[in-house]
Amino acid sequence: MKTFNTGGIHPPESKFTGNSAIEVMPLPAELAIPMNQHLGKPAKPIVKLNDEVKKGQLIGEADGFISANVHASTSGKIKAIKSHPHPGGQYAMTIFITPDGKDEWAEGLDTVAADWKRFSKDEILKKIKDAGIVGMGGAGFPTNVKLSPPPDKKIDTIILNGAECEPFLTADHRLMVESAEQVVIGMEIMASLLPAPVKLAIGVESNKPDAIAALEKFAAPKQIEVVSLKTKYPQGAEKQLINAITGRKVAEGELPFDKGCIVQNIGTAAAVFDAVCRNRPLIERVLTVSGMEITQRKNISARIGTGFKDIIAFCGSMSDKTNQVISGGPMMGKAIFSLDVPVVKTTSGILFINNRSLDKSRERTCIRCGRCVEVCPQGLAPWLLANTAQLKQFDEIQLIGLANCTECGSCTYVCPSGRELVHWIKYAKALVSSRQKRKSA
Ligand code: SF4
Ligand code: SF4
Repeated sequence: MKTFNTGGIHPPESKFTGNSAIEVMPLPAELAIPMNQHLGKPAKPIVKLNDEVKKGQLIGEADGFISANVHASTSGKIKAIKSHPHPGGQYAMTIFITPDGKDEWAEGLDTVAADWKRFSKDEILKKIKDAGIVGMGGAGFPTNVKLSPPPDKKIDTIILNGAECEPFLTADHRLMVESAEQVVIGMEIMASLLPAPVKLAIGVESNKPDAIAALEKFAAPKQIEVVSLKTKYPQGAEKQLINAITGRKVAEGELPFDKGCIVQNIGTAAAVFDAVCRNRPLIERVLTVSGMEITQRKNISARIGTGFKDIIAFCGSMSDKTNQVISGGPMMGKAIFSLDVPVVKTTSGILFINNRSLDKSRERTCIRCGRCVEVCPQGLAPWLLANTAQLKQFDEIQLIGLANCTECGSCTYVCPSGRELVHWIKYAKALVSSRQKRKSA
């Protein structure tokens, strides 16, 4: 079985919802749709208070090359445009819609599935851009930009990331099982945009045999290889996935383009199918609701803008013992600061956790055991990065690979001294970046 060649861990999988079919969540009483759900500049609101909008109508326009369109997730009235809590940990400009209950599509959207081969490359790329599709695995990079590599970068491989290596999360798993054909067509559409035929591979961790079987049925006739990967965290990180499937190593400062690869997420491929074949913008997504402190764990399809509170109500209730609600997985997700935050295009899961028993309050001295070095998939010395960050030696820390850390959290997970290694690394990254911004200003 293939895997990456440096480091890695195997936390308890806790994939309780692997066999739970995706449930479509009913329309909530209000939708809060942020203008920044992607990497790059936030979209510009193009609607006003009290405007009537249709489902799929453009309400926020991409602002610049690295940005993405935002659409109304249902029909209704614009109730407010204001700053609002965002699952990324900040406040963001957000458009509130009061649904009219009709859920009526804007004209020309949600058409009968068409054969994508009748569209030119430019038409396909425009449809992907217009639909506001971004990487749905977490990073949120605009997909049309990722599919337009610089002309001097020769791409020979597209990899679809079906690893879903974070514990608890099963949204991609269910999408692969329930919508395998759409995922495979979405991948074919993306490959058609490149100047020459490329190798196509879908990487899936071996703990999802039903997903591998479902994909193989549609992938084999199209010469797409479904690669069974060893179940190991962080198998789904872009650099580790490229290493596992092609054997190539993306070095510090390099991008997948530099190694001839483009990596896309499973949800993104399904969204590309919807945009190109059915004229449907990205207004909903599949996510996993799990953790030990929610009464009903589920995979759900929710409209973008659905409040976390509405999701809690749809999944029973959250226990009194919950002391953390995480947007994303337990390794790389973010603890939210308010239950008012909405689902955005990159919300892969919501976890309800009680971590009081972990006694994270007591960070102890490093005992030089070397475990963090052993598991680091990027070949770094996390203990040294954290020490250097604590000493605020921001010139030195850049020389020992700060930028190369993917914030996977494996080092923190294994540290017997309970050191918050990734926390200190993120702290150093934030300060180095703000110092650089100040310098260039
Ligand atoms: S968080 Fe960074 S330093 Fe820690 S194991 Fe992951 S890549 Fe290595
Ligand atoms: S795992 Fe923790 S205790 Fe061990 S070397 Fe790394 S920082 Fe030190």
